[in-house]
Amino acid sequence: CLCVAQDFDFFYFVQQWPGSYCDTKASCCYPTTGKPAANFSIHGLWPNYNDGSYPSNCDPDSQFQPSEVSDLIGRMRKDWPTLACPSGNGVKFWTHEWVKHGTCSESVLDQHQYFESALKLKGKVNLVQALQDAGIYPDGSTYSLNSITEAIRAATGHTPGIECNRDESRNPQLYQIYMCVDTSGSSIIECPKLPRGGCSSQVEFPSFGSESA
Ligand code: 5GP
Ligand code: 5GP
Ligand code: 5GP
Repeated sequence: CLCVAQDFDFFYFVQQWPGSYCDTKASCCYPTTGKPAANFSIHGLWPNYNDGSYPSNCDPDSQFQPSEVSDLIGRMRKDWPTLACPSGNGVKFWTHEWVKHGTCSESVLDQHQYFESALKLKGKVNLVQALQDAGIYPDGSTYSLNSITEAIRAATGHTPGIECNRDESRNPQLYQIYMCVDTSGSSIIECPKLPRGGCSSQVEFPSFGSESA
C-alpha cells in the first residue's frame, strides 16, 4: 500500500485504581484541587509497538501547554488526577505523560486531540460498573484475576491487561487496567500484545478513601 511509515502500532490506554496507588509503601498525596472520587482514573495513553516495545520522548521541542487544553482542564482534573507526592494540580503529571508518550503520537493526534482522546476513552467504559456487574467490589477482599479479566471483557468485548502492585503487606492488588486502542486513539481493539502484569491468580481490590472496607 501507499502507506506513510507507521510510528507506532497501537495505544495502551492505562487506568489506575487510586486505592492501590495509595495503599503502597510509597503512599500518595491527593491533588491540590481535591480528593479524587473512588473511581479508576487515567494514567496515560501510550503509543506502543506490536512486539511490546515502545517509543518515548519523541519530540524534545514540544512542551505541554495548558493553554492548548484549557477547555479540557476541568475534565482532566476529574478523570486524570495526580496522586503522586507532593500534592500537585496535575500539570506535572500531564506534562510527563505528554512529553514521554504524547509526543510519540503527534503524527496522529495534536496535543488537544491527545488529551481529548484519553478523556473520551475513559467515558466509553465504566470499569467500576463492569466489575460490579460481576460481583467484584473495591472492598478490600480478594478476587480471582480471571474473574476480573472476564468482567472487563464482557463489558468491552476485548481482553484487558491487568497490572498488579503490592500493598504495604506485600499482597498483590489490582493496580492498573490496560485496554488497547487503534492508532486513531478512538476505538478499543483486541490487544496485539498484553502487558506483563505481575499479578498472581488471586488479587486484592482495596477500597479508596472513605469507602467502607
Ligand atoms: P513501570 O516500570 O512502573 O511498569 O513503568 C514505568 C513507566 O514506563 C510507565 O509509567 C510508562 O510510562 C512506561 N511503560 C511501562 N510499560 C510500558 C508499556 O508496555 N508501553 C509503554 N508505551 N510504556 C510503558
Ligand atoms: P509513567 O512514566 O509511568 O507514564 O508515569 C509515571 C510518572 O508520573 C512518575 O514519575 C510518577 O511520579 C508521575 N505521576 C504523577 N502522578 C501520578 C499518578 O497519579 N499515578 C502514577 N502512576 N504516576 C504519577
Ligand atoms: P516516576 O519516576 O515515574 O516518578 O516514579 C517511579 C515509580 O514510583 C512509578 O511506578 C510511580 O508510579 C511510583 N511513584 C512515584 N511517586 C509516587 C508516589 O508519591 N506514590 C506512589 N504510591 N508511587 C509513586
